[in-house]
This record gives sequence, structure tokens and C-alpha cells, in this order.
Amino acid sequence: MLLVEPRRLACNKLPIQPVDKGGWLAIEATGISGADVQMWKGDRPDVLYPLVLGHQVVGRIAVSDGSLPFEVGTRVVVEPELRCGVCSRCTNKVGGCRNRRPVNSYGRLPSTEPPGLWGGLAEFLYLDPSCRMHAVSDDVSAEVATFIHPLAAGYTWAVELAALLPSERVMVLGPGPRGLACVLAALGAGAEWVGVSGLDVDEDRLRTASNLGAHLTVNATTEDVAESVADHLGSRPDVVIDVTSDDPEAMFTALDLVRSGGRVVLASTKGNRPVHFFSDLIVTKQLTVRGALGATTAGYTWASEQAATDKRIDHLVSHQFPLGESQRALQAAAGILGHEELISVAVTF
Ligand SMILES: [Zn+2]
Repeated sequence: MLLVEPRRLACNKLPIQPVDKGGWLAIEATGISGADVQMWKGDRPDVLYPLVLGHQVVGRIAVSDGSLPFEVGTRVVVEPELRCGVCSRCTNKVGGCRNRRPVNSYGRLPSTEPPGLWGGLAEFLYLDPSCRMHAVSDDVSAEVATFIHPLAAGYTWAVELAALLPSERVMVLGPGPRGLACVLAALGAGAEWVGVSGLDVDEDRLRTASNLGAHLTVNATTEDVAESVADHLGSRPDVVIDVTSDDPEAMFTALDLVRSGGRVVLASTKGNRPVHFFSDLIVTKQLTVRGALGATTAGYTWASEQAATDKRIDHLVSHQFPLGESQRALQAAAGILGHEELISVAVTF
């Protein structure tokens, strides 16, 4: 399903070319993320069309040149980001490899980049020799395995980047799949208290956060988040994570809400718009502010193991669509088809 231009998907046949290096993955399922929705809508300025969307891929290795870390037939999740290992981003060990444009990542590379199949909304994905993959148990259904992707981000953001210690208190702004993943990861790492805020439309996701073990959920449309947290916790959280969707206000809330000396993880972009804010708050409160982009390999290792053992994850993929209904899958993930019972969306094959 080629995204020819914003909001226009077309069923296409791209040949599976013989490749010198790497291999091919037979895709079983692909999760739809907020970033996919933004690219489908045309809200990302750096996207080159046409492209095959989808970076939360689960599948089975169908062809390998022998250099891949697993045998043909192994079921894997593939990390979205590719790394050349030599560009400045790679040598500085940060994401966003610049080796291929606009971003060296599955679901982002245009289909004009050979061999063309760089996204999860297709039957096959090219396995670049630099891709990293993780084996997934056959006991985990394909759609549930797509949740390994947000789960890996949750661990990276709430545990690794937040440098979370057991018995600390964590507030998560935004109850989307990655926000819920932050809840699971923080609780798994021994957080003493976890709160989550969302909007009116997030009622079902906030209920899910409670079911996963969150101690407080706040409807930010009708309640004051800072007041609710103060009432419930009696103090300020050690860590606040902004996992909202394109909401500049959430950054101010995060900086305001966190305790002095605390950590703020910003995992949400603000639509490429300039945001004016009061930076003295960072100085006077002596905060650590971390930008978060994607998940680490350690996050994927944790998430792959967690998916095989944590039955709560089975309920986090609420909507499934066949490949031919990718347009509806994107509409569902965008909330256009309604928010009732919407947790996360997968396209399955
Ligand atoms: Zn690189």
C-alpha cells in the first residue's frame, strides 16, 4: 500500500529484487503509530513521498544472505531505525542516522530508494544488513507482537532516559500506546507511584492505564493536572514524561509539575512549530531535560521478553484491519472512526 501523497494510498506491486546483502521479511503484522498518522496526513515536513508507511513490523525471515543474526523462518520484530555506524549521529550514539534521506528508518524512506520496500504496509520488507531484530515467541499473536514496539519506547523513555530508580514517582502525560507502555515499564522497574493524564477523548485509554496499575488518572480537559497530582501524591513527581500528541502546553505542565532536581523526558514533537517558554524554570529548579526519539536496543530486549510473559499486553491492541483496509487502519489510529475502546491499531496479514 503505497502512500503516493498525503491521505492517498494506492495498492501497488513492487518487485522483490535480488539483493546483494541482507534479506527479506514476510510481514505478519504492522502496528500503526502516531508518527504514521502524521505522515499519512502530511503533517511532517521532512517526508518524501511516495513511501510505504509502517515501522512497527513483525514477521518471519523469508530470505537471508547468511549475514542476518537469525535463520530463515525465525519470527522477529525489526527495530525501525537503521544505522550506518559512520555518520556523526551514529558515532555520537544518537538516533536519526543521516546515511539515507530523509531519515534512515523503516516507514520513513521513500520507495524510490532501492529496493523500494521499506515499510510495514506491504507483504514483504527489505532486511537491510544494518537492521537490528529480536526473536519473538510463536506463542505471542502477531498483532500483540506489534505492541513490542511501543513497549520498547516505554522502557527507553520511562526507565533508561529517566534514569528511574525503584520507589520513585512518575507522571506520564498522554495515555496513547507509548504512554501506556511508559506505565508498564515504570511499574516494572519498581516505581512507587505512577500517574497518567489524558483528554476527554482518552476515557477508555485512561481506564486501561488504571487497569495496568496506574495509581492516578487525570482528565486534563476538565481537571487541573498539577492540582490533581498534588492532592493525590502530596508532593511532586521525580520524573514527568511528555508523551502527548503535538501539545506544546504539555511541556510547560511537565516542567512545572516535576520536583526540583527532577527529570523531564520530552518524547513528543510539537508540529515543527517554535514554542516560547520560560527557561528559568529549568535553571531555578535545576532540572534534567532529555529529548527522546525512538527506542533503544535494550528497550527492545526488555519488551520482547515482556510480551512473551505479560498477559496484560494481550488487551492493548484494540483494532485490527487487513492490508487492503490500511486507509481505515490509519483513520482508526487517528481517532477519525471514534475513540471508543481505541487503544492501539494493527494491520494484520
Ligand atoms: Zn549513520
